Amino acid sequence: MVDLETIVSLCKRRGFVFQSSEIYGGLGSAWDYGPLGVEFKNNVKRLWWRDVVRRRDDMVGLDAAITMHPTVWKASGHADHFADPFTGCGDCGRHYRADHLKEAQVSCKWAQALRKMLSGPAAQKDRQKALRNWAQSDGKKLAPAMPWVKDPAGPAGDGLEGLLDGTVPACPACGSPRMSEPRPANLMLKTVLGPVEATGTVTYLRPETAQGIFVNFDNVLQSSRKKLPFGIAQIGKAFRNEITPGNFTFRTREFEQMEIEYFVKPGTDEEWHQKWIDERFAWYIRYGIRRENLRLREHAKDELAHYAKRCVDIEYLFPMGWSELEGIANRTDYDLKQHSKFSGKALEYFDEEARQKVVPYVIEPSAGADRSALAFLVDAYHEEEVRGEKRVVLRLHPELAPVAVAVLPLLKKNDKIVAVARSLAARLRERWPAVYDDTAAIGKLYRRQDEVGTPFCVTVDVQTVGDEESPPDNKVTVRERDSMSQIRVPIDEIEPVVAELMSSGWAGAAARYPAQPGAA
Ligand SMILES: [Zn+2]
Repeated sequence: MVDLETIVSLCKRRGFVFQSSEIYGGLGSAWDYGPLGVEFKNNVKRLWWRDVVRRRDDMVGLDAAITMHPTVWKASGHADHFADPFTGCGDCGRHYRADHLKEAQVSCKWAQALRKMLSGPAAQKDRQKALRNWAQSDGKKLAPAMPWVKDPAGPAGDGLEGLLDGTVPACPACGSPRMSEPRPANLMLKTVLGPVEATGTVTYLRPETAQGIFVNFDNVLQSSRKKLPFGIAQIGKAFRNEITPGNFTFRTREFEQMEIEYFVKPGTDEEWHQKWIDERFAWYIRYGIRRENLRLREHAKDELAHYAKRCVDIEYLFPMGWSELEGIANRTDYDLKQHSKFSGKALEYFDEEARQKVVPYVIEPSAGADRSALAFLVDAYHEEEVRGEKRVVLRLHPELAPVAVAVLPLLKKNDKIVAVARSLAARLRERWPAVYDDTAAIGKLYRRQDEVGTPFCVTVDVQTVGDEESPPDNKVTVRERDSMSQIRVPIDEIEPVVAELMSSGWAGAAARYPAQPGAA
């Protein structure tokens, strides 16, 4: 499994993801998608939309505003309940999720350094002396607010066991034991709409896109004439004032959700819930995530939100361990009933068979666009050795890759080759994300495309355009990223061949066209 630093570094080097406001020192846990990153993330969202909306008769889309009437958050329960307990450090002021502190503390830098020192020869010989030395060296840097580091006169290593096993709370950043009692923090980002703060409307940047769907339930029902079961899908930004964001784009305060609210007749909800769990699990595999890196996790009863009947997470084996990729919850009729109650407007469905009104139950598959993109990226990352050199290759599904086809001239000083390659790239660009690149030798150009996941390269060479000795063959070399095998294809057939490669893969075309030995 690749580590996160390798992914972060690749993302920056190749223009997938940059730190936000980097020239000002960066803004914590905010990330910007670069030229390749925006294409890649757009592909994730496009495939999701295509599969859950366009290809289904029972789904429609929505794009609701990020700011909503403040009462929405009263009705949804977010204004009163949407909080994780946090604890703050009395010395350096950092905040931590109270339920995450212990884990952070036992694995923090000072704890690691202390454990290493205590198992070393100096500590075996004279523990007190070793601790005092540590306090004056590593301790000053890693845990300046630890009492016996601050005040070397006191007993060195006081209460050490509890600090190291996390039973005595201490700050992972500075070693201070002055941690506040856990308090709830509301995770919504408050904002004021209107030019004058005192008279403006206080509301929130939505913490989930779901509520925009619930409040539009009747609008969509009346305008689309859908019958139960049907669903509404939405992609959009959401905001949570996370106490401990981190792990690159995995947990950020601003993020993009891909949510479905699927409305069903009460009594059919359990069956539909299971269908959506299966459908969404299969979706990740369809676009290249390895089965063994995915698992389902059933929420325990005490973990469920008070309105949820059942919730199952799809988890992915990220570099930092198994973590949530998507949650699929049976939210019952809670949300529609709450909004009916607070708005005074009935949110019901008339069941023609039963001749009665029902409040639908709702199944909510809620995925993150950023998390999905990160999982696809991590899963696609491979390093291998080719002819004694390291090759980094992103084995992205062709439809996810930011560039589908790269057109490369074998010789950039040959005007005929360049002209044919440029015109071919222009043609391909009409239908796929295609690039032309002549800024390096061919071997290097291939490696660059491998590293960003470009599934197919098309090379124009001397044979294509001909020279004094031989007439042009009007064929180009098409190379496949993963196998590095190549075929020779007439230029006139390139568009149908690329279409076939994008939808059905390499095998069919490779069987029909002659293999071309040579460059990897
Ligand atoms: Zn601290």
